[in-house]
Amino acid sequence: MIIKIVPVGEIQEKLLRDLPPRLMESYALLVDDCVVDNTTEIPPTAYHQLRGQHNADVLLDHLRRQTTGSNKVLALAGVDLFHGTLNFVFGQAQCPGNVALVSTCRLDPIFYGLPPNYELLLERVTKETVHELGHSFGLGHCDNPRCVMSFSNSIGEVDKKAPLLCENCRKKLYR
Ligand SMILES: [Zn+2]
Ligand SMILES: [Zn+2]
Repeated sequence: MIIKIVPVGEIQEKLLRDLPPRLMESYALLVDDCVVDNTTEIPPTAYHQLRGQHNADVLLDHLRRQTTGSNKVLALAGVDLFHGTLNFVFGQAQCPGNVALVSTCRLDPIFYGLPPNYELLLERVTKETVHELGHSFGLGHCDNPRCVMSFSNSIGEVDKKAPLLCENCRKKLYR
């Protein structure tokens, strides 16, 4: 099985180069390769004028059409996402399914008025992409706050967790 990273709108090149080996590390036993696919334009229907945000469900629906066979599509978007009644989400995925989506917007220190920090951005994007792919492999949320599958409601919670699946989640994944 292959993970296809699909940039949605503009995503920095360096991130697209540095992310695949990190994803392979987490899912090496399930995934044969991780490749960067062509950029997809953001469908205008995903934009919510009043919120100034993009609807994660509409984007996921749009991306579902790009999946083939058992391969996974991991979409990386630079725009801010919301879902249902949640003010924002870092990402969303079908659980289980073939499509996962992560926004880099609120993972970037710049969003919080802080200076750019590429290493921190990469670390956070790794955690949230491993998390959403975990959902696509059928994993639910984990109670262990250090586990990458714990639910993050704030950037502080993202920073608290490790980029790794806990022992428990790993067992579930390979069961
Ligand atoms: Zn989740
Ligand atoms: Zn866990």
